[in-house]
Amino acid sequence: MSQTIKVRPSTGFMTVDLDKQGRQTGYIRIPHSPHEDAWGVTQVPIGIISNGSGPTVILEGGNHGDEYEGPIVISELMRDIDPAMVQGRLILMPSNNVHAALAGQRVSPVDGLNFNRTFPGDPLGTITNQITAFVHDYIFPHGNAFLDLHSGGSSLDIIPSAIIEPTPDPELAKKNIAAVQAFGAPMTVVIANMGDPRTATAAAVRAGMITVGTEMGGGGTVSLDALAVCRQGVRNVLAHLGVLPSEMAVAAQPSTILELPGSKAYVFATMDGVFEPFHANGTTVSVGQPAGRIHCLWDLARPPETVYYNADGLLYGRRQPGRVRPGNCCLVVATVSSLS
Ligand code: CA
Repeated sequence: MSQTIKVRPSTGFMTVDLDKQGRQTGYIRIPHSPHEDAWGVTQVPIGIISNGSGPTVILEGGNHGDEYEGPIVISELMRDIDPAMVQGRLILMPSNNVHAALAGQRVSPVDGLNFNRTFPGDPLGTITNQITAFVHDYIFPHGNAFLDLHSGGSSLDIIPSAIIEPTPDPELAKKNIAAVQAFGAPMTVVIANMGDPRTATAAAVRAGMITVGTEMGGGGTVSLDALAVCRQGVRNVLAHLGVLPSEMAVAAQPSTILELPGSKAYVFATMDGVFEPFHANGTTVSVGQPAGRIHCLWDLARPPETVYYNADGLLYGRRQPGRVRPGNCCLVVATVSSLS
């Protein structure tokens, strides 16, 4: 069930007025006092396009700083959407973990934190925790829906897909599935992040928002295919929610719903070396099948070590860098969901 967010005092403030009609761009400013800037602020970019009455949709990119399709699409909307086309309000946030985004890194170089493992944040914590707390306490309560646009990032290459965040609320679950299917990605996947409650989408469903995630390619690149899927998918969802006109949507066939089967989804590196995958993304695989092998770089007498799939399904994601250390995620398998 949705919960009322307890708003904690924050030193952060905004240069935009959430209640003003029309188009505005500005910042969430959070006082930040590092060595080179005693009385400065960390600036998180935010845009508002508001017109008439209707739902408020929050669009997030740059949750991880090395995932680029989402920020591109959100910035395009800021430039391209005439307020007259909107019924309701878009809150556009392309680079939420702004220090990570500017560094092109998954985590913030300032405090080393993964924004997507900090919800609900801490207004008295390090800068990433303060950004999270501001977004959670001062932005989320205004939203009816939340789109969190991820890609695979530097370490993973993932099949472009729209993501369902699980919720125990059956009514919200129905709305989430309908919105995610409206995205029109080639694949729809339920991802529970092994039950982690600290992600943005987990916090968004707790706040009662209709929630849509994505995984768009990855490898730290901008994928032309994934960008096209993301660009149209976001418009499709905004039309589905009634914020943009239906002419901006392209009708999508509902795709089969897959899910990551908990810890069995993952194939982790068992030793230090170079990972050689045996299959391309999209391959059908089965439990116990050899998935790849890890080659030792420092002992010619040591044979490669084979790793195996732990689930029947479809190869959904692969590690991008060849170099691995024990525990690194090499492969991800998705199975058909009971929601299908
Ligand atoms: Ca991500």
